[in-house]
Amino acid sequence: MSQSESRANVLALYPEDSREAAALLKQAVPLMVRHNIPPNPVHYALWYTYSKGQEPELNRRLDRVVADFDGCPPESATKLFREFIIRDELEDARAGQEQVIHLVDGMERDVSRSVKGSVNFQNRLGQCLQMLEEPVSERLPGILSELQQSTRLMQSQQEHFLTQLQSAQSEIKSLRDKLERAQLAATLDGLTELLNRSAFTRLLEQALAKKTRVALVMLDIDHFKQFNDLYGHPLGDRVLQHVGQVLRGALATDAFAARYGGEEFCVVLQDCADLDSACAFAEQLRLKVQSLRIKARGTDTVLDTVTASFGVAFVQPGDNLESLVTRADDGLYQAKRNGRNQVCAMRRDPALQP
Ligand code: GH3
Ligand code: MG
Ligand code: MG
Repeated sequence: MSQSESRANVLALYPEDSREAAALLKQAVPLMVRHNIPPNPVHYALWYTYSKGQEPELNRRLDRVVADFDGCPPESATKLFREFIIRDELEDARAGQEQVIHLVDGMERDVSRSVKGSVNFQNRLGQCLQMLEEPVSERLPGILSELQQSTRLMQSQQEHFLTQLQSAQSEIKSLRDKLERAQLAATLDGLTELLNRSAFTRLLEQALAKKTRVALVMLDIDHFKQFNDLYGHPLGDRVLQHVGQVLRGALATDAFAARYGGEEFCVVLQDCADLDSACAFAEQLRLKVQSLRIKARGTDTVLDTVTASFGVAFVQPGDNLESLVTRADDGLYQAKRNGRNQVCAMRRDPALQP
């Protein structure tokens, strides 16, 4: 896709005429001033979109960031910009990458075929040489000797060509490996190495389209702000990594886990028997998180423990991604309200809740 086409995609998100755009900017600028946000294009785009209210999740996240940091750190702004403003372009980039992998695959197949062809040709040349060495007629020794020489030359040229093909093939393989690694990295959260939110959303959508026994477990670390305040962000980051390991270690082959937001995680079970077994799985996770011992770096001194609250939902006919996520999130909210460090299932009709 050309640059101008991808730019057009982003602009499609903002169809306002200049009067409406000016009105939105008039709302955005005082907000930026109030929160000490530096005026640069990334922040303008974020706060303009905030004022427009077209991405409620962005508004929720920005509210949280400014409450936590009394401003907006560059890394948070960049992350939100990538997630909410240039989202389509990232999708396009991924599609482009897949196209390249597809092309490279095709080239590799063609090159392999050529290599096989060259090997066959070389064998045929060898056989011909043997035949030429047998005296066919006493009258033709000179001609045969010339033929022999030119055939040997052809053979050595073929061998050279074969070597070139083989080295091209290994370059293609290494390029493909690099592309695949880059593609994988683009789906992972850098800190926990779980799936990132956009990869998670894509996989959950696919699971809901294909499977009928999908369960979603959402968890959020309890009083994590307090933990950061007490021990600092680097140790907080390590807690997030430990929780990531707990989730990864608990996954059955077809399940997947993601970092959904700051200290919020999701696990999707794809062939789960029912809501109760999803709750039992969540309860196992809760116990594992609770038994983590947070130690000072490089020592065995236990500083603290952490707990998490869990919301669980099981797919029902007519569910979509949003309704399933909302239900799990409601369960999580309920678990927080009930005192944290517990699992709360959310059935579709709140009146039927246990
Ligand atoms: P609750 O029990 O209600 O969930 O309380 P909480 O303090 O965990 O929730 P709150 O939403 O108030 O705070 C979430 C905290 O998570 C605030 C933020 O600093 C922290 N956080 C978010 N992302 C990261 C991160 O990448 N690293 C670290 N260390 N902290 C993070
Ligand atoms: Mg949270
Ligand atoms: Mg929390």
